[in-house]
Amino acid sequence: MADATTGSDAVLRLKPGREKSLRHRHPWVFSGAVEAVQGDPAPGGTVALVAADGTLLARAAYSPSSQIRARVWSFDPRIAIDADFFRQRIARAVAARAAMLDDRNSGCRLVHAESDGLPGVIADRYGDVVVVQLSSAGAERWRDAIVDALAAVPGVRCVFERSDADVRALEGLEPRIGVARGDLPAPVAFLEDGLAYRADVVAGQKTGFYLDQRDNRRALRSFAAGREMLNVFCYTGGFTLAALAGGAARVTSLDSSGAALAEARENIAANPALDGTRAEWLEADAFATLRKFRDAARSFDLIVVDPPKFAPTAAHAERAARAYKDVNLWALKLLRPGGLLATFSCSHGIDAEFFRKIVAGAALDAGADAAVIGRFGPSADHPVALAFPEGDYLKGLLIRKAT
Ligand code: SAH
Repeated sequence: MADATTGSDAVLRLKPGREKSLRHRHPWVFSGAVEAVQGDPAPGGTVALVAADGTLLARAAYSPSSQIRARVWSFDPRIAIDADFFRQRIARAVAARAAMLDDRNSGCRLVHAESDGLPGVIADRYGDVVVVQLSSAGAERWRDAIVDALAAVPGVRCVFERSDADVRALEGLEPRIGVARGDLPAPVAFLEDGLAYRADVVAGQKTGFYLDQRDNRRALRSFAAGREMLNVFCYTGGFTLAALAGGAARVTSLDSSGAALAEARENIAANPALDGTRAEWLEADAFATLRKFRDAARSFDLIVVDPPKFAPTAAHAERAARAYKDVNLWALKLLRPGGLLATFSCSHGIDAEFFRKIVAGAALDAGADAAVIGRFGPSADHPVALAFPEGDYLKGLLIRKAT
């Protein structure tokens, strides 16, 4: 046993039968699956995961205060978990994105947690800045190694830490925001499909920008020409700029965050090739505003609906379903015949088929004869490991309304 567990501080022994998900390469061990912990692992320390029959299965990070008691670093139990391990995993993730960064694109997610073999680690690149978010005890334990490896990526001048996700509390971790390496430029600027954007990495949502929607903004740009568009939940104007670049006639964008809208205006201004007079910005509640638009007989021939996470977990699904239905119902009412609706959900608690049913219900109640003509998912830099379906959160539908 001593030999087999070299490199781990301790051993986490599973209950009989509970090794099955690990054999399928699912990276989480829930507290209920744990028979015993031998040794005295510190939070985030490495444990050897051992089946009831003594088989050594994986090396994992120990999270004593979370229901997810251990997260696998490696399914090869011979591999040591050290700074070199993190250098290699990060290099592998960065290499997989090489083709996504070019002279028109300098924004990209470099590390996408479990699906890149690094649970609790997210890293987004905006030009020469990398924003890292650590959300598990294991990621926190290896913070220095992770930050060093990101700082060593060619062209990176600053690593900024945004470890302020709510889930840190479940791991017993305090939030941490600040420069980890180098110096932070102001503003943080990057390109997406040739369009200039800024990311508020210090106080913006997520790490400052919704990189997961890049491929979908690209798609929207391809069918925006000549259309009058409504961008609901626009944040800093990602879909708005893409539509204007694609030749949209006019775009009305709304969000409840004044800070996001101020950034959106800066984004338009940073692109002299875009006609900012075609953009109308409204700081308002989406639910109330769509109803007001209906009362005012306003209509559009392209609508994007990209709400915040109404259902972070399945427990919120029912209430969230009502909110998704409501906003899609009113969007479909505002859509002209022949118009397109690009509608999204980033809720973990609502899967693609449930979302399709919600939108179908909205169409029925709106009296719209509508069909799905396309489906959306996260951009290619947000992989979903086949063994980790929990990573699949962003889904979207492109709907065409006939009448
Ligand atoms: N489509 C955006 C991301 C949207 S994130 C992009 O591509 O960048 C969701 C947005 O919804 C956030 O900007 C948040 O401020 C906004 N929001 C949340 N609740 C809202 C409400 N009730 N009305 C309007 N906007 C809201």
